[in-house]
Amino acid sequence: MDIGFIGLGKMGFPMARRLIEAGHRLTVFDTQKAAVDRLTALGAKAGASPKDIADEVETVMASLPSLQASLEVATGQGGVIEGRKVKRFVDLSTVGSQMAMKIHGLLAARNIAQIDSPVSGGVGGAEKGTLAVMVSGPRADFEAVKAALGVIGKVFYIGEKPGSGQTMKLANNFLSATAMVATSEAVVMGVKSGLDPAVMIDVINAGSGMNTASRDKFPRSVLPRSFDFGFATGLMVKDVRLAVEEMRSLGLSMEVAEAVGRLWETIIREEGAESDFTAAIKPIEKAAGVIVGGKESHAAK
Ligand code: NAD
Repeated sequence: MDIGFIGLGKMGFPMARRLIEAGHRLTVFDTQKAAVDRLTALGAKAGASPKDIADEVETVMASLPSLQASLEVATGQGGVIEGRKVKRFVDLSTVGSQMAMKIHGLLAARNIAQIDSPVSGGVGGAEKGTLAVMVSGPRADFEAVKAALGVIGKVFYIGEKPGSGQTMKLANNFLSATAMVATSEAVVMGVKSGLDPAVMIDVINAGSGMNTASRDKFPRSVLPRSFDFGFATGLMVKDVRLAVEEMRSLGLSMEVAEAVGRLWETIIREEGAESDFTAAIKPIEKAAGVIVGGKESHAAK
């Protein structure tokens, strides 16, 4: 099918590439020209703006880094909302249910359907087409894009209610964020007491503590101290803040989420928004006086 694709970053690029390889005709846009060039080299057409793309295709997908970027691309000046042909805006970004509902309302006034479609599974999942794709929105529009979304991962229809795909995604990412910091605390405790972190991770992965941080993030990016998993701390903190806001807006006070939220605020303050989110262990190491993994793995004397 003809698809517009806006936002060609760490996630957007591999998803767009897979769609081209599956035979879809893509028109792409990104504020960074180099990102567009990488896709035109693979056969995509370059669009001049979100509106320009929405003038040409019925389905526009987006994978953008902030709530503001999704709002602007969808509903701002020169945005998808001004397009003549567009019928549906499929947002693959994580924006939370409130922003999704805001975009839904603005687009509905112009008879454009908003489809939430946040994804989970990281850059590796985007490259392999194994993401979890959490879709909500009108059933008929979901059916129109289901096959294309199947190219990027396993598709789950969450429901008609706008924003419900986002609520699902925030529940998932709250767990991912928690696994990262909880595993960091567990391993730092062990190293402080003199345990070998590589052995600890092997044991955890053979035991009941196994989680996505111990299984994927520690072996690949923490123990070798490469801190290059491919998801920015700024994006993780965005998701944690959205999850805490979502809970509060439902009248809930969640103790683990509040504590995890505070810890991630320390991490972004100390490591910066651009750092890889696996650097979350660094403030925890610093407070404990230990280094986990690498050649210098040790507890402070
Ligand atoms: P990224 O920063 O690597 O890519 C975002 C791209 O959007 C960049 O190429 C940027 O130039 C472009 N962009 C920004 N503003 C724009 C605008 N106004 N118009 C057009 N292009 C614009 O981010 P990412 O890691 O690919 O994440 C994208 C989304 O996917 C985020 O919502 C993130 O939370 C979510 N996500 C990321 C991962 C991951 O592992 N990286 C996993 C799951 C979900």
